[in-house]
Amino acid sequence: MPHHPTHLRPGTAVLTRGFDPALSVGSARPAVFRSSTYVFESPESAEHAFDVIGGRAPAEPGGRADLVYARISHPNAEIVEDQLVPLERGAAEALVFNSGMAAIMTAVFTFARPNSSIIYTVPLYGGTAQLIHRFLMPLGVTAVSIPAGQGTALQEAIRSSTDPCIVLIETPANPSLMMTDIRQAAATARDLPARPIVMVDNTFLGPVFQHPLELGADLVLYSATKYLGGMSDMLAGVALAADPRLTQEMRSRRNMFGNILQPDECWLLDSRLPTVPLRMNRQSKSAQRIAERLQGKPRLRRVIYPTLFEDPEQKRIFHAQCDYPGAIISLEFDGGKPAAFAFLRSLKIARNAVSLGGVETLACHPKSTTHSGLEPEEQDLAGVTDGLVRLSIGIEDWRDLVADFEQALQRV
Ligand SMILES: *Cc1c(COP(=O)(O)O)cnc(C)c1O
Repeated sequence: MPHHPTHLRPGTAVLTRGFDPALSVGSARPAVFRSSTYVFESPESAEHAFDVIGGRAPAEPGGRADLVYARISHPNAEIVEDQLVPLERGAAEALVFNSGMAAIMTAVFTFARPNSSIIYTVPLYGGTAQLIHRFLMPLGVTAVSIPAGQGTALQEAIRSSTDPCIVLIETPANPSLMMTDIRQAAATARDLPARPIVMVDNTFLGPVFQHPLELGADLVLYSATKYLGGMSDMLAGVALAADPRLTQEMRSRRNMFGNILQPDECWLLDSRLPTVPLRMNRQSKSAQRIAERLQGKPRLRRVIYPTLFEDPEQKRIFHAQCDYPGAIISLEFDGGKPAAFAFLRSLKIARNAVSLGGVETLACHPKSTTHSGLEPEEQDLAGVTDGLVRLSIGIEDWRDLVADFEQALQRV
């Protein structure tokens, strides 16, 4: 690399790290390298590259082997991984995957062992819950679930489970926004001889508003399909760690599984990264204004949003753990499912779709869609009621969104 200042702030580093225009014929933005295989300078350098990949020789400074084959890595993955690192406070290395589920699945398969236990908060993202129930449990891993926000029970479970290998926390929970104390769980895990890996699915508030690695977590996982991608037009996943040994272990599994993010998608994700803080700040600010404006309106039993929390412990976790409240709001209607459906039918700007984190505002009815696979007791535990609608606020003018929600409320 040419002369380069070292200590850059994240907003600058995301635009300057990892990409050298000289390697893309002077192009100001990265080229897309679609090649599946890479040409060696000599048979000796080919031999050396395979020694590095096979762990028989140390990697070059910077930790990377020469490019060999695109399932192992490719230039666009290297660029986007370098640019992800400064966005996540405390991270040393990032890995990209072809979906959020691919990142989560690779993390879980890297660190689970036979006859061990995985301790996790519920509700979890539906795909993650299925991964635990339908894949890990039949392989002999004990699953221990603790309702989100029950810190003491979580600590107890971490201490008392047989050979704990993974603690998986999703905070805030979806769609109740119930928060779990990451620092407390990580400290409990660190004190155990088995030293379980503490993973946080940071999709809802990270990387801008919540920093799990600084709170003691080992691994941060993302569905980059959401805020990182930000346009509801791609699938991607990311894993980040402060300890490069953890990402190295996951990297070798990614080589086996073949679930690295493809070059075109890496290029697309890369172009979205510089605006993640801009978009998320705007989305959170708008969501806060909207939530506080909707609170107390007729037909709404409750507006669920971090700045409106009433439980003292939830308030404490929010203030200790999150910089800003984020852009997910849950509305609970007095009139149950008919009211929720009438509201969704009447929206003119917000679209009725699952997913979240895009620049466009989305609304869905979790009980009949994203959370319909849960047992009734699990739905109750997760706060998924008949009258609940989840909103993901985009970057439209918040006043137009308030007007849209108000006119839809009138039709309930
Ligand atoms: C969407 C989502 C996932 C799964 O990500 P995909 O990119 O759809 O595979 C995992 N966790 C959370 C919290 C999510 O919202």
